[in-house]
Amino acid sequence: MIDIDRVRAETPSCADVLHFNNAGSSLMPLPVFEAVSNALKLEYSVGGYEAERLLGDELRVFYDEFAGLLNAEPEEIAFVENATRAWDMAFYGLPLKAGDRVVTHASEYASNYLALLQQAKRRGIVIDLVPSDAHGQIDLTALEAAIRPETKLIALTHVPTQGGLVNPAVEVGSIARRHDITYLLDACQSVGQIDVDVKAIGCDILSGTGRKFLRGPRGTGFLYVRKAIAETIEPPFIDLLSATWTQPQRYELAGGARRFENFESYVAGRVGLAAAVRYARGIGLPAIEQRVSDLAATLRTQLGTIDGVSVHDLGQVKCGIVTFQKTPLQAKEIAEQLRSQKINVSVSILPYAQLDLGQRGLTALVRASVHYFNTDDEIERFVAAVRVM
Ligand SMILES: *Cc1c(COP(=O)(O)O)cnc(C)c1O
Repeated sequence: MIDIDRVRAETPSCADVLHFNNAGSSLMPLPVFEAVSNALKLEYSVGGYEAERLLGDELRVFYDEFAGLLNAEPEEIAFVENATRAWDMAFYGLPLKAGDRVVTHASEYASNYLALLQQAKRRGIVIDLVPSDAHGQIDLTALEAAIRPETKLIALTHVPTQGGLVNPAVEVGSIARRHDITYLLDACQSVGQIDVDVKAIGCDILSGTGRKFLRGPRGTGFLYVRKAIAETIEPPFIDLLSATWTQPQRYELAGGARRFENFESYVAGRVGLAAAVRYARGIGLPAIEQRVSDLAATLRTQLGTIDGVSVHDLGQVKCGIVTFQKTPLQAKEIAEQLRSQKINVSVSILPYAQLDLGQRGLTALVRASVHYFNTDDEIERFVAAVRVM
């Protein structure tokens, strides 16, 4: 059981805003805010490099916290400025050549799909889109059937940005293992709201961000790369941290996930993200997962009782993201009206999900995303606000 009074007291802004935009950027809990601001204050008073030295332990613990969160090794974790660049650092470094095939699904994140399109244009890789099953998740039978000798990568988004769907990441992992294909999982919307275990899933690479369900600061992200795979990836960019210039004409890449990092990074952000992971683990991911999915299920049911409202989440398993429309209103108008009442949501639009929203004939959806610190009372207020629009 989560102590809701306590987590709300540690998120003082809960009292001012009704925050259902946790898939966009959540509210930082006080210990995270304090970790970031203390690190910034230290930089302000003693200098950036000197602060980094003093913060040594808090910076190192970042890797241990993520290793604990994801069931990985500290050396398999990199700090990256956001989830997109984390994903890119691995993807663009994979040795894919003309004719190699990448299997993916309509739920893939827009920026990832853009990268696939770019590499199709530049390198001649081929994208195989696996259809959805009746629930709207990646069809496992079709996935297995799509695999050919040229298939070198399965790229999957665990939870898409534009809906409550949770893809069957574990089942995809066993297919990837059976065929010995690299498995790249975008877990940007799942880490922090779902108990994600890289060994149980069987992914080789996993990317995520700090500001969403992990409740970390903006401008932070992370990458997990399985040890044996990291050694086979030559990152698209290297610098004097990710590589060592050993002789005038030679260099050596850093071992493990360090090769995906930048020399210069948001030090206060890394301290803050470590604090965010510690905070989430302190509450417990299984308890978080249960509460988030319960709150979202209630929200879906309640919204469904309103005239003109349609709820659009796909998936056999659904998470904390709830998407809906209310005719004849535009999604943008709904979000604006809510904002004027200090209710935060976001809007998912077609260019963010051409394949998924396009296939469903949708151009925009309101996205309300709940977290464990939200309450049934807030759901009631939210639903009442949508009802009277
Ligand atoms: C938000 C999001 C991303 C990108 O995260 P950034 O930190 O903004 O780069 C990637 N994948 C999914 C599924 C997302 O929702």
